[in-house]
Amino acid sequence: MQNSIRLKLKAANAKKWKNGYPLIKKEDVLNSHDLKREGTIFELVDEHQNFIGKGYYGIQNKGIGWILTSQQKEPIDQPFFEKKLKLALNSRKSFFENQDTTAFRVFNGEGDGIGGLTIDYFDGFYVINWYSEGIYRFKDDILQALSVVTDFKGVYEKKRFAAQGSYIEDDDFLLGDKAPAPLIVKENGIKFAIYLNENAMVGVFLDQREVRKAIRDKYSKDKQVLNTFSYTGAFSVAAALGGAAKTTSVDVANRSKSKTIEHFRINGIDFEAQDIIVDDVFQYFKYAVRKNLQFDLVILDPPSYARSKKNTFRAEKDYSDLLEKAITITAKNGVIVASTNASSFGMDKFKGFIQKAFQQTGVKYEVLEEYRLPSDFKTIKEYKEGNYLKVVFLKKLS
Ligand code: SAH
Repeated sequence: MQNSIRLKLKAANAKKWKNGYPLIKKEDVLNSHDLKREGTIFELVDEHQNFIGKGYYGIQNKGIGWILTSQQKEPIDQPFFEKKLKLALNSRKSFFENQDTTAFRVFNGEGDGIGGLTIDYFDGFYVINWYSEGIYRFKDDILQALSVVTDFKGVYEKKRFAAQGSYIEDDDFLLGDKAPAPLIVKENGIKFAIYLNENAMVGVFLDQREVRKAIRDKYSKDKQVLNTFSYTGAFSVAAALGGAAKTTSVDVANRSKSKTIEHFRINGIDFEAQDIIVDDVFQYFKYAVRKNLQFDLVILDPPSYARSKKNTFRAEKDYSDLLEKAITITAKNGVIVASTNASSFGMDKFKGFIQKAFQQTGVKYEVLEEYRLPSDFKTIKEYKEGNYLKVVFLKKLS
């Protein structure tokens, strides 16, 4: 049933794929025009027609397909997906056993052997993210495989394969029972309200788990905390639970206010003692400077790309400027949590942005600690870009 076609690598760079690199870009191969229908299985070959790996055609902004196996004879079928899922679930055993954390990633794309597919776990419910129409073509086999390897309460899906990985508005419920809305999950004892059927984003970014824990346990006691791009206030809640004197959350989206109140409420925090501001962060920085506000802890976790009425922000271009503004309103000996999920640059470049911002403001700093993706967001050494999260805790010295 699977018509496999031969995809020929340009001569110079076959070594990279022989060493296990999983992603194919259009410009890597000579005959991408032979790929017609997403979901088609192809055999990647070098210039001498030697087999390198077998993958599927699926268009994402990252590339046009992912290698699934280096075994020419291995079929890509339901047992194949079952094997991958089983391995992935087994390696999250300690998460399943942890009573204090009931939300985590169980399958992380190429890190678990299938690029373009992620699966998150929320207290018995599974959320499948399909990142291309190509991987979506394997939906029946993958759902069947999931049913074999685990007992779920229910399954939801997010079709994220519209242009630029944006999300197709739809009913996301697939199988089993529907989840309550909100579904309350725990993360190191912190409660989060999850809405599985509202949006591509369900209420919390699971990849920041260790950062939230550090903020709660080590950086918040008696501090004035500013959380910018605060979304549902997850960092603010962590800071409040860690004993912050006060938290200020700033996000431009209207919905962020009620979501943040809800998060404070379910964690037993008086939300009226916190500031929750709906505003453009860049406007808020101007206001804070005018009012001479100073914060002991400033959390900066912007999206990689955002357009608001007055600003276009691209992490790759604008992070230093953003950080400069944050430095100005951070108290001496205060801490800045500089975070980015941009996969287009690595840690070295990010540290370059940090250095530039401090240089521009003439302020000395010290790196306190760094975080990358947690272990449930499994990555492979052959694909370093997969470890997109970069978080650096910085102390403002003088
Ligand atoms: N730091 C958050 C996640 C941020 S998601 C967390 O870990 O929970 C990105 C958020 O940035 C969205 O909620 C979006 O509304 C907000 N945003 C984007 N551009 C903004 C801007 N210019 N000012 C304020 N918020 C902005």
